[in-house]
Amino acid sequence: MKFHVEEITFSTRERFQLIDLTYKVEEVVKRSGIRNGLCLIYAPHATAAIIANEHERGLLTDILSKLRELFPPDIEWKHNLIDDNAHAHVASSIVGTDRVFPVINGRLVRGTWQNIFFVEMDGPRNYRKVLVVVIGE
Ligand code: ZN
Repeated sequence: MKFHVEEITFSTRERFQLIDLTYKVEEVVKRSGIRNGLCLIYAPHATAAIIANEHERGLLTDILSKLRELFPPDIEWKHNLIDDNAHAHVASSIVGTDRVFPVINGRLVRGTWQNIFFVEMDGPRNYRKVLVVVIGE
């Protein structure tokens, strides 16, 4: 059993933003040399999330619009008495900070319309990171 981990670091520009990490994740899987196993994509952040879906401009706007609608920044959240990002904490806790994909024959298995996105919900941030962990043999 092998274990390979890499960090992907980046900055974000908007309060709500989707960042496509698919090709960086696939490069990590390739570098790992692992042929069969699992790939975890994990964001160690309380105000962000990881999702898998289609990279289509209209859909990306739809997803961000729905997140703003479900988790509006400007309502009276209790956490905002001490901070200003309750909406992002709540969204992160519901959407989730990780996704797992199979790795089969050296390739990350995902649907044709399943790109992997980091979901920024409390940007802009100078420093965000995602851990990519590949386990297998
Ligand atoms: Zn906070």
